[in-house]
Amino acid sequence: MEAKPESNVLVIDDSGTIRQGIKIVLHQAKLFDNILDASNAEDGLEIVKSRRVELILCDIVMPGMDGYQFLSTVKGLVEYRDIPVILLTGRDSVESKVRGLDLGASDYVTKPFEADELIARVRVQLKVKRLQDELKIAKQRYKEMSITDFLTEIYNRRHFMELFTLEFSRSRRYDFQLSLMIYDIDNFKSINDTYGHSVGDEVLRVLTRLIREEIRQHDVFARYGGEEFVLMLPQTSVDGAMSVAEKLRQKVAAYHFDSMDGKNITISIGVATYPSAEFDTSEKLINAADNALYVAKRSGKNKVVFADPSHETKD
Ligand code: GH3
Ligand code: MG
Ligand code: MG
Repeated sequence: MEAKPESNVLVIDDSGTIRQGIKIVLHQAKLFDNILDASNAEDGLEIVKSRRVELILCDIVMPGMDGYQFLSTVKGLVEYRDIPVILLTGRDSVESKVRGLDLGASDYVTKPFEADELIARVRVQLKVKRLQDELKIAKQRYKEMSITDFLTEIYNRRHFMELFTLEFSRSRRYDFQLSLMIYDIDNFKSINDTYGHSVGDEVLRVLTRLIREEIRQHDVFARYGGEEFVLMLPQTSVDGAMSVAEKLRQKVAAYHFDSMDGKNITISIGVATYPSAEFDTSEKLINAADNALYVAKRSGKNKVVFADPSHETKD
């Protein structure tokens, strides 16, 4: 379990008496781990940037940067714009309240403040903030799930296709080479039949790790289907891709799987490289690699086959 991040509230007011009064009330309410304070907005901003601040109470009229300027600055910074700011305003100043709310303040408290009201308003903003944070985390998690293959934890096919389509147009535009590799486990059905489906799953995971160890940071690796994987190698020539493929093929063939009583598996690999007059779209490049894989299977498996454009049959 990760440690719970510290929760800080920041009070900015040029009056020491008001700061002290607010701090006492906040302290009694026990809503935060730490109560930080600043006597001017400039120092307040430094605290926002250096500590994890969950909520800010800020005076409007201060020498130097005033509350409105502080608010605009915080709301203009992506990392901090979600921190709720409650303004401390004079009792009768409707105009200043409206202006503050327009600039992005979450709420205001009039001075001299009532302790119960202050805490009630802080509670509401804190609740909203925490719900928003949870939502943000959930959104991020769903996004990761939507691009990740559940079993192997590498990219799934859909995300791969997005990245590949982008990279293909980039390669075309800048005249870069782009290689694509598709590989499929040989006779995988018999592994499932002999050792069971869960061993089959384990083999897929270990195989993924083996390949992952070999590839470069810019290579994009994904599970394309059941026991079929793709590897995109940006700015990589035919020769480069063929030697990577051959290295991977040998590495896999030489690995002994504990879960299969030390036996090994083999893979067949199809490779295709852009630029080529025949493979002038991302779909054609994928089809070419897929056809090359098919040729590798048909001609005995455990091999690497390059999709030679001059040998492509055009239907
Ligand atoms: P080939 O050498 O021609 O590729 O033969 P193969 O047996 O590997 O290919 P085939 O397409 O006949 O069978 C693929 C098998 O992969 C069938 C399917 O049950 C299995 N498979 C696909 N996805 C998974 C998975 O996530 N886990 C496990 N354990 N097996 C899977
Ligand atoms: Mg197979
Ligand atoms: Mg298959």
